[in-house]
Parts: sequence; structure tokens; C-alpha cells
Amino acid sequence: MTFQDFNFKDTLNQAITDAGFTEPSPVQADAIPLILEGHDLIGQAQTGTGKTAAFGLPIIQKMTGNKGVEALVIVPTRELAMQVSDELFRFGKTAGLKTATVYGGTPYNRQIDRINQANIIVATPGRLQDLLMSKKIKINPSFVVLDEADEMLDMGFLDEIKNIFTFLPEERQTLMFSATMPKQIKILAEKILKTPKSVTITKSERTNTDITQIFYVVADYERDDALLRLIDYKNPDKCIIFCRMKKEVDRLSSYMTAQGFKVAALHGDMEQKQREHTIRSFKQGLVEIFIATDVAARGLDVNDVSHVFNYHIPFDSESYVHRIGRTGRAGNKGEAITLVSPNELRTIKRIEKDVGTVMSSEVIPTRQEVQSRKDDDLLSKISNIKVSSSAKEMVKTLQHDIDIVTIAHLLATIVQEDIDVKGKDIIGLGSEEVKALIERAKNWKGGNRNGGGRGRSRNRSRGGSRGHGGDRSGGRSGDRRSGGGNRGSRNGGGNRGSRNRSEG
Ligand code: ADP
Ligand code: MG
Repeated sequence: MTFQDFNFKDTLNQAITDAGFTEPSPVQADAIPLILEGHDLIGQAQTGTGKTAAFGLPIIQKMTGNKGVEALVIVPTRELAMQVSDELFRFGKTAGLKTATVYGGTPYNRQIDRINQANIIVATPGRLQDLLMSKKIKINPSFVVLDEADEMLDMGFLDEIKNIFTFLPEERQTLMFSATMPKQIKILAEKILKTPKSVTITKSERTNTDITQIFYVVADYERDDALLRLIDYKNPDKCIIFCRMKKEVDRLSSYMTAQGFKVAALHGDMEQKQREHTIRSFKQGLVEIFIATDVAARGLDVNDVSHVFNYHIPFDSESYVHRIGRTGRAGNKGEAITLVSPNELRTIKRIEKDVGTVMSSEVIPTRQEVQSRKDDDLLSKISNIKVSSSAKEMVKTLQHDIDIVTIAHLLATIVQEDIDVKGKDIIGLGSEEVKALIERAKNWKGGNRNGGGRGRSRNRSRGGSRGHGGDRSGGRSGDRRSGGGNRGSRNGGGNRGSRNRSEG
């Protein structure tokens, strides 16, 4: 299927070409014909699947361009409002359509002027309701879109939305998009949509295959060490670390800053200006790590986030989907990494089932392993770099007093100090141990009474790891060696042995 199949007008085809879109995404292929035919629609697809164009293109195709607001798009956050209106502006400008963005925290008058000149408005629920109730604006849109409906409900906008619809004309085409379909959304859909068609991007399509999902099992007290080690190892360009609570965001931000990372915290209650400034710094690469709560990261759309870290696993599957959807955007590859304690393994299994995905369990690389990877990188860098003239000068000066091999050793020592891997050698559980825990988790389910089963297994697993410290590292080094290949010689060294001995 191509965009030509929709028989769009020339101005719109031009805009699609300008945007660099060559082929409709699955949700676009399914939704566009239905919208063109005039149906109400309920569309379920994960973030990053191209929903904006899925509703934007057919609406723009159908718009007359007459004076007045013909299309209204309601989105949960100010960032999304700006993003969606940017995208709609791109599609509409060749047809001479004007777009206005409507959100709280800015003066009314200019916004009202813009609305009065616009053909399309993109609004957040709070400000839109204000404007409608105070009769500052009156609109009569033929097309109404509720975008990211589940997020709007999560943010508590249900009443605003219901109220807004009382100001809208009965004669209209209504489209609703949501990444997930909880019951409340279905109830709302029944209220505002008329005999809607539905488009669901199936589970296998929905799980963005550009995102690799991995979990690591660690003890609660090891989370900071694990995070640092993984960042050291994966060396992300840009990453987002998700926490459950604001308090944790603050603590982790100070901690990561102290470790020398360029970090910014994103709070739900941040001033809008400050929030935008922070997001801009992240987009520009001035900040490399974002630390955020679920609420704060709503609608965050940065295309080159390479990694999402879940410092804690989120409570529910929907948050998980939203969180990991911040990476692997716009066709890029992404990794979603979740730290779990042994007790949270069941949550992993539940989320996998809900989302229709599989996360793979991996073992946190040892200090040795990260060090060898860094040494390898350094060696390859050394063999590829061009020698500068100032470097030649420096070596010439040094050569007066020191022989060339010693100079090389000294310089290598200086460089290696910079890439020194910190922290304890082994963090988290080994793969054998995780396997055993997963087996045990399966048995919990089979047990006849939840409470009793839980208590017993927990005690047993604790006793196990305390009592058999040797088993644990033994299991791990075994795993490593079998998979390790050429690293084996380095890893096999004295460190492990002495660690076991000192513990034992
Ligand atoms: P969603 O609303 O589903 O999260 P968006 O509409 O924001 O997704 O689209 C995500 C990104 O993909 C945007 O940068 C958008 O420009 C791009 N995109 C959308 N459709 C296509 C397409 N058919 N071809 C290429 N890129 C696309
Ligand atoms: Mg969207």
C-alpha cells in the first residue's frame, strides 16, 4: 500500500513527500480509508506508530478550508499539543490551513486571536474547557479527535472532556486514539462516538520490535550500583531513567550528578518554562540522562533516546508500555532495561502476559567485563586515530628524558585512569539463580493458597542465597566462562577466586 492509494489532493501529497513519508504505517493504512469514508473511529496503537498522520491526513483531505475552526484535536499535555500541531501544520500548510495551539499557562488574548484565525486547533483539556465555559471562544468543528485518551484519563481529565463535548456540535466526525483500552475508555467511547469502526494494531504489530527489552535481577540495595554499571557498559547516547516517586527522582538525580553525568530531573509539578527548557537541553544533547516519574514523562517525544531504564518496575502494564515507548522511536533501535528484585519477578511475568511481549533476563556485567570492553574500545580507537602535531611535539619533549616504551606505558596509564570501572565486581543475581527463581515463581501460582505460598518461598529464597554464597558466584562465573569466549582469559584471573575465598 502507498499514500497514492488514498487519492489525496495534490497539496496533501506534496506535504507527505516533503515530510519524507514513503509508506503508510499499519495504523495509517487501516484508519485512513475509514476516516475518509466518514466513520467515527476508535484506534488502538502504541506510541510511535504514526497516529498523528493517521487522523491528520484524512481530516486535512476532507477539510474545506473555509473560515473558522473545522478540526479540533484534544491531547493530554502541552508538549503533545505542540508536537501534534507542528505535524498538522506541516501537512496543512501546502493547502493554506492555519493551526493554533491551545494550552494553559499563557495569556488568553493572543491565544484567542490565534484561535479565531485558525482552521485546526490542538488543545489541552483544561485551557480548552476554560475558554469554552467563559464563552471566550465559540467553535463548531466538523472533526474532533481525542488523542492519547488513556493518558488524559490517567491525568484526571475525564470531567473536563465530558464537559467540553457539551459545547461541541452533534453533527461531527469523532475519532479517538489510545495506546491502551481500559474499561473507562470504552465507556467514554460509547458516550462520544457514534457507531464507531475500530482499528487495533494487533499485539505482535503493536510491540515495537525496534525495542529490545531486558531485565536484570538485583537486590534492592544494589539498584544504584547496577544502574551505574549498566550505563557504563551500554554507554547510551541519551537515556531516560524512570522512578516510581518524585522523591526517588530527586535522590537519584543528585547521585548521578555526583557521578559526573549530565543529568536533569523532570517533575510533574515543574514550571512550564523550566520544563520546556529542560526538554530542549535534552534534545540538544546538553543533558544526557533524564530522570523522571511516569507523569512527568507523559508525551515526551525525543527521537534519539537509545535507552530507557526502569529503576523500579512500574506498577502496571500500561505505564510499562508508555515508558518503553520513549525509546525505539521513528525507526531507531532502542533498549528498555528493567531492574527488578527477586520479589518483583512475578510483576515481570504479568506485564509480559498483558503486553504480549517477552523480556529477556540478563546478568549484569562484572567490573572485569566492562573494563575489557572499554579496553577493547580504547585499543580500536588508538589504532584508528590520526596523530596530531602537538602530540608529536609532546612525545619529542618527553623523549629527552624517558625511553619510548616507558612513555607509552605512562600515557596508557593516564588514559586508563579515565576509563576506570567503579563499583563491586559482581552485582545482581546470576542466570542460574534467576532461572531457579522463575521456576519457583511458576510454582507459586500452582500453590493452593497465595499467602502461605508466598511467605514460605520468600523465606526459603533468602535463606538460600545467604547460606550458599559460594554457590552464587560459582554459578555466575560458570555461566560467564561458557559464554565468554576470548574474554575468558581475562575474567578467569585471580579476582574471582580471592573474592570467593574471602567471603567463604
Ligand atoms: P504516535 O502518535 O502514534 O505516538 P506519531 O504520530 O507521533 O506517533 O509519529 C511518530 C513519528 O513517526 C513522527 O516523527 C512521525 O513524523 C513519524 N511518522 C509517522 N508516520 C510515518 C510514515 N508513514 N513514514 C515515516 N515516518 C512516519
Ligand atoms: Mg501521538
